[in-house]
Order: sequence, then structure tokens, then C-alpha cells
Amino acid sequence: MVDRELPSRARCVIVGGGVGGTSIAYHLAELGWSDVLLLERSELTSGSTFHSAGLVGQLRGSVSLTRMMMDSVELYRRLAGTEHDPGWVECGGIRLACSPARWEETRRQAGWAKTFGLPLELISAEEARERFPLMETGGVIGASWLPTDGYLDPSRLTYALADGARRGGCRILTHTRVTGIEVRDGAVRGVRTERGDVECEVVVNAGGMFAAEVGRMAGVRVPLVPMAHEYLVTQPFRERDGGHMATLRDPDHLVYFREEGDGLVMGGYERRSAPWALTGGDGLDAIPPDFNGRLLEEDWDRFEEIAVNARVRVPAMEDARVTRLINGPEAFTPDGEFCLGETDVRGLFVAAGFCAHGLAGAGGVGKAMAEWIAGGEPPMDLWRMDIRRFGAHYRSPRHTLARVREVYETYYDIKFPYHERSAGRPLRTSPAYEWHRAHGAAFGEKSGWERVNWYAANEAEGDEALRPRGWAGRHWSPAIGAEHRACREAAALFDETSFAKIEVSGAGAAELLERLCDNHVARDVGRVTYTQMLNRRGGVECDFTVARLAEDRFSIVTGTAFGRHDLAWIARHAGPGVQVEDVTSRWACAGLWGPRARDVLASASTDDLSFGYMTLRDVAVGDVPVRALRVTYVGELGWELYCPMEYGAALWSTLWEAGRPLGLRAGGYRAIDSLRLEKGYRVWGADVTPDETPYEAGLGFCVRLEKDFLGRAALEQSTPARRLCCLVLGDPRAVALGNEPVRAGGRVAGRVTSGGYGYTVERSIAYALLPAEQAERGTPVAVEVFGEWVEGEVVAEPLFDPQGARIRGG
Ligand SMILES: Cc1cc2nc3c(=O)[nH]c(=O)nc-3n(C[C@H](O)[C@H](O)[C@H](O)COP(=O)(O)OP(=O)(O)OC[C@H]3O[C@@H](n4cnc5c(N)ncnc54)[C@H](O)[C@@H]3O)c2cc1C
Repeated sequence: MVDRELPSRARCVIVGGGVGGTSIAYHLAELGWSDVLLLERSELTSGSTFHSAGLVGQLRGSVSLTRMMMDSVELYRRLAGTEHDPGWVECGGIRLACSPARWEETRRQAGWAKTFGLPLELISAEEARERFPLMETGGVIGASWLPTDGYLDPSRLTYALADGARRGGCRILTHTRVTGIEVRDGAVRGVRTERGDVECEVVVNAGGMFAAEVGRMAGVRVPLVPMAHEYLVTQPFRERDGGHMATLRDPDHLVYFREEGDGLVMGGYERRSAPWALTGGDGLDAIPPDFNGRLLEEDWDRFEEIAVNARVRVPAMEDARVTRLINGPEAFTPDGEFCLGETDVRGLFVAAGFCAHGLAGAGGVGKAMAEWIAGGEPPMDLWRMDIRRFGAHYRSPRHTLARVREVYETYYDIKFPYHERSAGRPLRTSPAYEWHRAHGAAFGEKSGWERVNWYAANEAEGDEALRPRGWAGRHWSPAIGAEHRACREAAALFDETSFAKIEVSGAGAAELLERLCDNHVARDVGRVTYTQMLNRRGGVECDFTVARLAEDRFSIVTGTAFGRHDLAWIARHAGPGVQVEDVTSRWACAGLWGPRARDVLASASTDDLSFGYMTLRDVAVGDVPVRALRVTYVGELGWELYCPMEYGAALWSTLWEAGRPLGLRAGGYRAIDSLRLEKGYRVWGADVTPDETPYEAGLGFCVRLEKDFLGRAALEQSTPARRLCCLVLGDPRAVALGNEPVRAGGRVAGRVTSGGYGYTVERSIAYALLPAEQAERGTPVAVEVFGEWVEGEVVAEPLFDPQGARIRGG
């Protein structure tokens, strides 16, 4: 039955009747949200959903992403066989490896899968052929096999979800176009449609490739680009034995296959991408208003490479007759992952940009989004899919397009750790950027910033023999060790201008921060505090330092990529009388650390530099006015030196000139990472996420249970079942990079959160979350580094200077 009447009010309006919107409606209904209205401008499934190839693969690059895919499969399995059967076929999925590097990647993924609870196995080429008999095994080194992968019918799934939502009270109106979103005082108030207005407190933009257009109705940027994506369907040509053939992906040949009756579906990711419906050269999407239930013209030219490759793997494709080549547009984001979460407009959520894995993800996305909307917080660590990971630079459609193209065209390429994207660079540069270039900086990019990884100029001082084995040694330089050692033995200078900086001010600032922080931060003016902010589950939502600048003014410094996230978290809890401002672009920052750091700074400043650890002072460095914070992320005496941006180049050259006679070396972020690992300093988003409490993350020393703060109740009610542990591997050349399984007590007990080599302690270090019973010092462990189990043990942390004597200095 189709609803006809447009209500004047609903608690929640979902814009878009594709698989995304209907899944959110379905899951909201399951949570008891009955006053939900789903508006679709045309028919259900008439966007990208109806022309999907329907493959469902689960293994992704992070735990939460993979967990979402697993949630999808669980839902599809549950719906199968009911009156709302989505046509789910759990035929299993094969992914081939046709090069030694791909085989290494496959083995690495098999390792991750163990920690994600996925039953992924490694199989031989012959075993792959048994499951997909049409394939030629030439060039295949091996494959992975995931028996719970499969495929389904996208339209049937969407209608099944819509029916489930309706049964839970959701009203679905098709042929009802949303034409505007009403925003007042930063919050959503309702939507305008062709058929009248609807008041509401929550709007979910599930507009697929139209989501950017829908976002613009509220002044919100959703960075995605419609990209033409193709697959073909053959006529029946193969004999069936009654069973199902597995899905097959051959990334080295850019192709995928699945059965379709007695024929095949075959598609892939072309090297030449085709953005669609953009205006001129600026890359802004302008999809025709009547583009529903439609496809694009067949583009055989672009598909040729895929078609040729497909015949190499499945020779029967040579003679198979093609029923049709489907060419349909689909929304892609700049990093190839979903775009989810609450936007800068309160109550306006987005769930779009599904990057050709929307069917695989829809079940899990719908569940996570519904829980997020109903609970007011993401139900698990969704940072890698959170819209706030896209900085202000993605407001530019042209920049977005450059990245989307790169991501699409390299979709099936092996992603080596520390690989850097190149499109749209350089964009954000520090005032010392030209200096870095002149000194042979190898740059990485984060949130649009060019950041120094290491300087080629330091390579000669390093030790090539320390290069880690395998992939960890690919994007590596001996300079990293030289820069690390300079910091421990003399002094090193790091450009940290990209740090995200937030100012919280106003009469209620201290009270707000005390309510949000687990540590006591409203201390004397001039004090600096390391703290976390927790969500209601007690998980670490933010992890940073807070400096009190004045009675009513605080400065927060957080990771380069986390500014928008942390600012949004603080702002959404702030009442009137508190201003929360992003001041990143106002301040340049140089980190100066090492046993000789005080001598370096003293030779450029006449100020008294004896102020203590975790305090700040205003000083002059050369001609530059500087706010000096006595903090460290490397475990040495020194400062973060902040100055207004226009002085940044002068500050850098002053410090450099002052430090040269004292053995100062400029260093990059890779040296910082090695230094911080030795000191056990955590990285938010890897070692500690919204899913771990400070106790689990080993940050209990920050928690002040004697005061009230958000998340405290959850901390009081839980006993940590897991703990972040420091592991040392027996083989110093075997370096873990993250996600590797850790075996303890005879089973896979956890996974590596981050790892690297410590050039001072001369050990391969890995951090891992392990069950409390395996977290004791001395517990033997093994870490699977590229298919090889490397022995190690849990050790006391930090490995370097446990008393912190170096930090306090003389
Ligand atoms: C050729 C091709 C093959 C694919 N193969 C696979 C695959 O094998 N596996 C897989 O997992 N994924 C695949 N995908 C991707 C998958 O189809 C999409 O990720 C998914 O369908 C997106 O769903 P959605 O709900 O976000 O968007 P859509 O299905 O596009 O739904 C958005 C809806 O919003 C509506 N809308 C927009 N603006 C408004 C408005 N103003 N008012 C009201 N309604 C509005 C639109 O009409 C549309 O119906 C493929 C995609 C393509 C193009």
C-alpha cells in the first residue's frame, strides 16, 4: 500500500528511497521509531540501487567497516526465505592473487580477518577453480576464500526493507521531491517538498549521488562525485550443476564476476574514470532533475580494457553473447569510503557516497545510522566513515573530483602502508614549506596539509641496515633513524603547524570543559593538561592537551585530522556563553626537543625558560612572539612553540640557525612516530578509539573520578576486559603496521593497533589490545607479520625513560 497524504509533522524525515534510506528506516523502526517519513522523489530504487550488480563482499580495511559488512550479511541471511526474501545467495567469494605483492596483501588480509572474526581462508589456484570452474588458473599464485560472501537482488532487498519499515510505522511517500531544508539556529527544523512542508527534528540525507545537492539545501557540503560505473550481463551459456558458483574478484586484472542464471555478470574498475553530470571544469555535480530509473549510454571504449582482461581469466567470455552493458552512475567519495553521520547542522544526518559497495554495506550502515540517530552518538568507532573526516578543503568540488578520480582509478591497486595520494597537492602548506623543500623533505599529506615525513638530507647519517623487512621497508628511509637519534642525543626540530587548534572561550568555558574532560583541566592560568573526552559508553571520543590561557579562555591542540571531529564534539555540548572556534590557520608551530633543546632555545631568547613541565609562557624567540608550551610527544625536554602564522618562517629559520652549532637536526613525522612508540604515547583513531575506555587504553592516570564528567557513569559500571599492551617482537626487522593478529594463550587474542621500530631501544614495538588475562608483563605472544608468526612478549611500558627524567630535564 502506498501512502498518499503528506503529513505536516514527523519526528524524522529520510530523503531518498534507495537501499540506504530504506535500510535506515527499517532499523529506526526496529528501534521503535515509528514517526518516520521517507520521501522519494521518484520510485523506490530508482537512483543507483536498481542497476547495482548486487555483489556482497565483507572484508574491508578496518574492524568497524568489516563489522558493518558482517552486520549486512547477517540481516540478508535473516531476511532470506521470509516473505521479504532479498534473493540472498551465500555462495562464497574468491579473491585471486596474481603477483607476489598481491599474494602478500592477501596473506596480510587473511591475518586481519582472523581478528575480525571472518572465516577467511587461503586457497590454491586449483581450489579456486573448483569453486569457480570457468576460470583459467594461469598466473594465479593463490586466493582468499570467504564462504559467507554472496550476492542478492538490489531491488528486492530495498522493497523488503521498505516493507519492514512500514510495518514498524514508517510512512513512505514516493513521487515527493524534497526541495528545501529548513535550518534555524544551527539546527534542522523541517523540509520543503513539492507537495508541502513537513516539520521535523531529524533529517537524514540518504540521497545517494544526489546527496551533495540535498546537502546544499542546508548549506552543508557533502563531498562526493557521481561516477559512471559499468558491468555487463551475458546471455545463458554455461551448464549448471544445481549448486551456486562463488563470486570471483581478480584485482590484478581489475575485474569481478558473479553468476546470473546460466550466464555471468562481469564488471570492473576502469583505469580511465568517467565522472558524470558535472558543470564545466569546476567539478560541481548537476544531475538532471529527471534522472531516475535511467542508465547512461553504453561506453564500450572505456570498458574495453576490462573486457579484454575478463577473457584472460574466463576464456568462455570470448564467445559469450552480451545481453547488455549496464552503465550507471554511483556516488564516490574522496577516499572511497562511506560518508556518514551528523553534519554541522544539528539534526541533519547524511548516509551517502557508498562507492559501489552500498549493497554490501546497506544492512550495517542502516543499523549504525539508526543507532546513531536514536542514541545521539555513533554506536561504535565510525571515524573512518564520518563526514567530519573531510576537512574544509573538500568544500571545493574541483579538489574533491581530483581525489575521487585518483581513488577510483587505483581502486584495485595494492595499498602499501604509508602510500601517499598525489591528486590535489600541494594545498595547505606551512610557512616553512619552501625551507623543507630545499632540504629534500619527503612529504606526506594529512587533511590537505603537506607534512614532512623525513628529509633526504639526513639519509647519509642513517643506517640502511635497519630497513624493516617486506612492506614496512617500502616507504622508509635511513633518515628516520638519524632524525630519531638526533632528538634523543642532541636536539631535533619538527614542523607541527598542521596540528588542529581549537579555542574555547567565554564565561561558561571552564565549566563546559570540566564537564566534558575526564581530567581536571580548569586549573591555574598557564597550566597545560593532557586529557580525554569520553562518550556515554565511556569510550575515548577525543584525546588532546588543554592549556588554560586565561580565566575564560582555553586552547586545545589535537591531531591534524581530528580538528573538525573534536570541535563538533565540544560545540554540540556547549551552551550559550561559550564560543568554540577552530584557530588552526592562525598559528604556526615548531616542536623543539632533545637534551640540548634548552641550549638551542636559550641562544635565541633572552626570556627565562625555566618554567616547568606542562606549563606555558609567552616568550620571544629571535624577533618572533611565541607561546611556548612545555609539553612533549617524543619523551624529551622541549617545547611546542606557537607563533602567529605570518611569523612561522622566521621562527623556523631562527631556531635552525640557533641550533646548528649545537647539533640540531630537522626531523619528520616518521621519526616522531618511532619516538612516541618508545614512550608509549597513544594515537587516537588507532591505539585508542571511541570503543575503548581510558582504562583499557592505559590512560587511567588521566581519569578524575572524584568529579562529574560525561562518560563517568559508564566507567564506574565497567571492569576493563581488555588492555592496550606494549609488545616487543623477537626479530627487530619484522615490523607490524597495524591490524596484525596477536596470538596469546594458544589463540588469536587481539590485534596490533600500531607498530614500528624504536631506534633508541633497538626493538620492534607493537601495541595491541589484549584480554586482561593475557595483558600481564612477560606473557609470550606471537604476531603474524605477513603470514609469519613472529615471537614476542608483553613488556612493561614505556620502553624508554619510564621515570620521565628526560622530560623534566635540568
Ligand atoms: C554499475 C553499478 C554496479 C554496482 N554494483 C554493486 C555491487 O555489486 N555491490 C554493491 O554493494 N554495490 C554496487 N553498486 C553500488 C550500489 O548500487 C549503491 O552504492 C547503492 O545502490 C546506493 O544506494 P543509495 O540509497 O545511497 O542511493 P540511491 O539508490 O541512488 O538512492 C538515493 C535516492 O534518493 C532520491 N532522491 C535524491 N534527491 C531527492 C530529493 N530531493 N527528494 C527526494 N528523494 C530524492 C533518489 O531519487 C534516489 O532514489 C553498484 C553501482 C553501480 C552504478
